[in-house]
Amino acid sequence: MQVFKFGGASINSAKGVQNVAQIIAQHLNKPLVVIVSAMGKMTNAFEDLLAANRENRDTMPIYNYIRDYHLQITYELFPDKSHRIYSELEGVFFMVMNAYKLNDEDYDYQYDQMVGLGEMLSSKILSYYLQQVGISNQWVDVKTCITTDSTFREGKVNWTLSEIHIREIAKKVFATCNCLVTQGFIGGDDKGRMVTLGREGSDYSAAIFAYCLNVENLTIWKDVPGFLNADPRYFKDAQKLDKITYSEAIELAYYGATIIHPKSIKPLQNRRIPLFVKSFNDPTSEGSIITNTASEKPKMPCYIYKPNQVLISIYPKDFSFIAEQNLSYIFFVFAENNMKINLIQNSAVSFTVCADENKQRFENLIAALSNNFKVRYNDRLELITIRHYSEKDIKNVVGDRVVLLEQRNRTTAQLVLQKQG
Ligand code: ASP
Repeated sequence: MQVFKFGGASINSAKGVQNVAQIIAQHLNKPLVVIVSAMGKMTNAFEDLLAANRENRDTMPIYNYIRDYHLQITYELFPDKSHRIYSELEGVFFMVMNAYKLNDEDYDYQYDQMVGLGEMLSSKILSYYLQQVGISNQWVDVKTCITTDSTFREGKVNWTLSEIHIREIAKKVFATCNCLVTQGFIGGDDKGRMVTLGREGSDYSAAIFAYCLNVENLTIWKDVPGFLNADPRYFKDAQKLDKITYSEAIELAYYGATIIHPKSIKPLQNRRIPLFVKSFNDPTSEGSIITNTASEKPKMPCYIYKPNQVLISIYPKDFSFIAEQNLSYIFFVFAENNMKINLIQNSAVSFTVCADENKQRFENLIAALSNNFKVRYNDRLELITIRHYSEKDIKNVVGDRVVLLEQRNRTTAQLVLQKQG
């Protein structure tokens, strides 16, 4: 048994859906679980729709954009307008409208009831399309498989229940066909409500299925040839890492490599399930493999780039030293304001943090700290992490830029830099 996960970029057009169907068709000699994300950038569009609705702005332009986007792809795939897919999609659009009414409810709850619907639309389109081209498959509502608590927007998985449900459902489906199609990003709580697993959570969904079914392997199909040593949008000459260990992949994802969701690796590592990262544009090429048997250390440096950083230095106003009490309060304020810390450094009288820049959260943070601390900051910075670095690699990355903070250990160097230009 295998699990395939297809992200939004693989199904952002009718051609994309057809390509995905071809890839699936070539792997049906054994049972296959297919997990899909929302099409293209539809999750962002749903977030925009929710914001407009919440702020009492006109929602129609965004709603129509989402609707037309899906219908346009559907028309190309199903020229027969009486095909059942159209009434199925109307059913989901009706759910979108219903989610409008949750304006007085908790934001995170409403978010999940609306934003999770992108995956409902994409998985239905894919499943019906597979059927149309003769690939027998069964669409499954993932709420009946992945059981979470009711932490909306960040559902915590109940592994015991999920394993029972996933196994039961897979057994039923695979008794009749070799392909199960379901949604990434979503789980369901004990009341059957949608609970999302966090942005980019479809990789995690795939890892949950892989773990619970103890499959042979999981493949994540991407628009890049595999796990690269750098993001090609920011670094030229990015190269593919053919094999890496789970531990290395976790480290890279932790420092911000966007190729895979950091939470996805651990479940795979626990059951030693190999993870392939392959290109949906070149499906027969080798891609990368992440396992335990790969050699320990990649043969090349790996670069992780994080733009939009702010470097904040915090000084106690009473000239006391930065000690445990101050630190625990500072961490508390960061956590309260959902500021994600990427790097810390302290001296006797100051504490410095590099964090993701978010204007609103940052202003709240400064307001909360300003009673007891003096706060200074530099914004619009970049954080570059280099794993397995050499002096030459650091020099090349820095060029003639100003380094505001640098931290190194034996394997990893982190540099906070002023932006180029
Ligand atoms: N569609 C969701 C997102 O864009 C989940 C995913 O694609 O992984 O965050």
